[in-house]
Amino acid sequence: MDKVVSVSFGELALKGLNRSYFENKLVKHVRRVVRDFGEPKVYKEQGKLYIEAEEFNIDEIVNTVKKVFGIVLVSPCYRIEKDLDEITKYSIEAVKEAMSKRDIKTFKVQCKRADKQFPMNSMEVARKLGHEILKEVDGLSVDVHKPDLYVYVDIRTNAYIFTEKISAYGGLPVGTNGKGLLLLSGGIDSPVAGFMMAKRGLQISAVHYHSYPFTSERAEEKVKKLAEILSVYCGSFRFYSVNLLDIQKAINENCPEKEMTLLSRRFMMKIAEKIAVKEEIDALITGESMGQVASQTIKSLNVTNSAVDVPIFRPLIGMDKTEITDIATEIETFETSILPYEDCCTVFLPKHPVTRPKLEDIERSESVLDVDKLVNEAIEKMEVITIHP
Ligand code: ATP
Ligand code: MG
Repeated sequence: MDKVVSVSFGELALKGLNRSYFENKLVKHVRRVVRDFGEPKVYKEQGKLYIEAEEFNIDEIVNTVKKVFGIVLVSPCYRIEKDLDEITKYSIEAVKEAMSKRDIKTFKVQCKRADKQFPMNSMEVARKLGHEILKEVDGLSVDVHKPDLYVYVDIRTNAYIFTEKISAYGGLPVGTNGKGLLLLSGGIDSPVAGFMMAKRGLQISAVHYHSYPFTSERAEEKVKKLAEILSVYCGSFRFYSVNLLDIQKAINENCPEKEMTLLSRRFMMKIAEKIAVKEEIDALITGESMGQVASQTIKSLNVTNSAVDVPIFRPLIGMDKTEITDIATEIETFETSILPYEDCCTVFLPKHPVTRPKLEDIERSESVLDVDKLVNEAIEKMEVITIHP
């Protein structure tokens, strides 16, 4: 018997001829995340992926692998020979193991036979195993409708026995849908936005704006920490750190106070667009959500959009803060996001920001600034690092 982790992928099945392209990406990502477990063997068998767990803690492998996008279910399994005695022995073993972890009174055996050469059909195997388990384990009965425990038996090239189907995130493998540049603040929303687009197959890079020395180094460290947490899901990525202070000062000195936030946001977009063009990135990603703050009304969002030609993806646009917070908690960015360090936007926060801006007004205010020069100077001074999980 060997312990292995099985991996099922969902949407990939829909991709027809592209299927192998998606599968290969997925296999590559799985290999990457399990490298720390002694580069275990990863192999495909009849449409599922298997990872040999060997002496490593199988639960740790499960927890690591389920963060790879494109995977729908993960199960810790026993892998054994396709021999009825072996299958019986380890089905009983699996039941006992499950019973040692939680209260189980009823069970059902569910068998799938991909190998039609196997001398018994699925029903016969299930019936036989059910019978043997009842004989060997006290205090159990069969319930075919709502059992406390399913004993899954997959008969393939090998036989696999498992009792858990652990949900993963689904989605598509990172890198199968082009690249996106995430505007990553230190807040709750933008890490979630990055997570959601990476889940749809985008390869992520991130840009962060700070106002050093008005914002602190600790604020910068916090954002890098968020980027590191994200990279667990997205893989290593480039992180651009841009000082916005000169631009904010220029706006502050030359433009109406109430337009401060909106004008800064247009600069953020313009700088991000330049980086995107240079790095052949196809879209920007933000954590904006309809109506959340003054810069996120429809009119404000439209004014922000018109600063650039590149599309801006806003995966949180229709979500409530509580829904966003739930995801932030699940992906483990929340605790870092709520650390109380200052953000560049708070440095020059207007008392009464515009909520119904007119594009002509904003463009007129902006026209007194040397936009190109300010953007180029900010990009020249920007720092680039690579973030690793
Ligand atoms: P978040 O929680 O993501 O900070 P928010 O609700 O605080 O969002 P804003 O501060 O208006 O809203 O920011 C909206 C979006 O603009 C953010 O989700 C992020 O994508 C981008 N953004 C804001 N500030 C920065 C920054 N300092 N660096 C990079 N991107 C930023
Ligand atoms: Mg913010």
